[in-house]
Amino acid sequence: MLRFFRSFSTKNFLYTVSLVGRPNSGKSTLFNHLIGGSTSLVHNTPGLTRDRIEGITNLFGVDIKFIDTAGWDPTDTPNPKPIIEKMKLQTLNAIKLSDTILFLTDVRAGISPSDIELAQYLRKTVLSDKNATKDVILIGNKAESSWLGDVSNEVYKLGFGEPLLISAQHGEGIADLYEELKSRIPEGYADDFKERLKKRKEKHNKIKAERLAELEDLEKESGEDFNLKEWERAYDKLNPWDNSDYDSDNEIDINKSLASDFNLKDKDSLMENMKKHKMIQLAIIGRPNVGKSTLINAFLNEERVITDNQPGTTRDALYLDHVHKGKKICLVDTAGLTKHSRGTVNKLIQEDVMKAIKFSHAVVLQIEAPVGLTPVDLELAKKVIDEGRILLIVGNKWDLVPKDMKGKVAKDVAINLHTKITLKGLNVIFISALQNYNVSKIMDEIQSLYEKWNKRVSTGLLNRWLEAFKKVQPLPTSQGALLRIKYMMQIKARPPSFYVYVNDRSLMKENYLKNFTSSLTKEFGFEGVPVRILLRDKH
Ligand code: GDP
Ligand code: GDP
Repeated sequence: MLRFFRSFSTKNFLYTVSLVGRPNSGKSTLFNHLIGGSTSLVHNTPGLTRDRIEGITNLFGVDIKFIDTAGWDPTDTPNPKPIIEKMKLQTLNAIKLSDTILFLTDVRAGISPSDIELAQYLRKTVLSDKNATKDVILIGNKAESSWLGDVSNEVYKLGFGEPLLISAQHGEGIADLYEELKSRIPEGYADDFKERLKKRKEKHNKIKAERLAELEDLEKESGEDFNLKEWERAYDKLNPWDNSDYDSDNEIDINKSLASDFNLKDKDSLMENMKKHKMIQLAIIGRPNVGKSTLINAFLNEERVITDNQPGTTRDALYLDHVHKGKKICLVDTAGLTKHSRGTVNKLIQEDVMKAIKFSHAVVLQIEAPVGLTPVDLELAKKVIDEGRILLIVGNKWDLVPKDMKGKVAKDVAINLHTKITLKGLNVIFISALQNYNVSKIMDEIQSLYEKWNKRVSTGLLNRWLEAFKKVQPLPTSQGALLRIKYMMQIKARPPSFYVYVNDRSLMKENYLKNFTSSLTKEFGFEGVPVRILLRDKH
């Protein structure tokens, strides 16, 4: 455990400072103050009740990463238990990732059982380790000069000595806080940082060089110019080496040690939460009353957890775990999505639904089978495809379609989809959420689509297929000019995206591109997932 701490701490790419404490203790206010105008939000981690917010700012010549957390919630809040547990875990994670921890208390509210619990944890893991590289700064916030109260004795009992009194809101005491921080940052840290940055860049370049060598071989073999300079630029863009030290694998390791280290109530489910970014995140969208809540309930086979807007808790999304055939699927349900009794189409699409789509890997678009595909449904489907997410259309209330009409309804939906949506191989599953008919098929299909969405095809295989395709499909001409497709490569997965190098992309015809895409889809088994073809001119 202790060894783990040290090794991780020295691995930190940037000097990292986290803000922990109860919700409402003023963490966000202080975070904004510290990060100030030079805000550079580096990432929001979806998958937790409130995203972990990080920002990097330069103080006294050192780049420092600040992590804001949702808060260590008192156990007696009205929040549902899973949310409290997730918030706790988020705090524990931030602590693990930090060099210095700012432990915020609210001098006006006094000390609560959750402050004591957090203090115990910090004492146990940070102070008891003689060699620890971590340190805690206890802060008594909301102590602006106009406040005439006293810091209660209890604050001292937390075991971190005298709190540093500040007012995050009024900017008082911040200079003292800077001093405290500065004294903790090891001499030469800024130089070390440069060294680490250099190492990281070297590693990045090494991997890139290996890939490049592969491509150069292929280039020689084909006798074509692959324009690898552009490939390099694209590679750097898609694999940034200098923006964050976030390492998801480390985060999982951290949780393994956390679970044994700290008496968390439901270790297994918490571990799973943290693996969430490796899990399939599924959103269920659709017009009001299509049966989304009913379907979610059918999935969970239990009462739905209702979110409410407690400070520091989930603001827009609810994450529920669903185990399917040993694999985990996380339901991303935007609160309010099911609550919209009415609301204009635009509003619906722009707000909650777009959020749900963006936060997910896969989207179940629920429609009403007796009604068929409405223009709103089609619009939603297009949004999902545009965002590059997996789309599965589910025709609910199948029980309401009379037996002798089922064939016609299914056919109508299929024709509608075929003519209005470009995505090939889109399946529709007809279900009855109410009667639990075909519901399990949804997860099966999502799993299989997820695999396709993540799939990578080697450049060699792609170009062999491309040669064959060019022979079967004569290339289009335009006033004597002939389109030439030179070579292609898969530039990324999730969704599968391909660079296709051509002599002049204006010569590409819509129909040809359609055939090209659908043939590629069929050959490599990308049916039902959005495939992106990016044409590149290569002279
Ligand atoms: P968080 O939940 O810990 O992120 O807390 P917030 O930063 O959202 O702050 C909670 C509440 O405390 C907000 O209403 C803030 O305006 C207020 N607050 C934060 N800092 C101070 C302070 O220094 N003095 C006073 N009086 N209020 C503060
Ligand atoms: P939401 O607004 O999309 O969350 O829709 P609800 O889940 O609240 O469902 C709206 C109505 O449709 C409710 O009265 C449900 O009981 C009903 N409903 C949902 N699924 C089915 C189904 O498969 N068959 C039938 N007959 N009714 C359903």
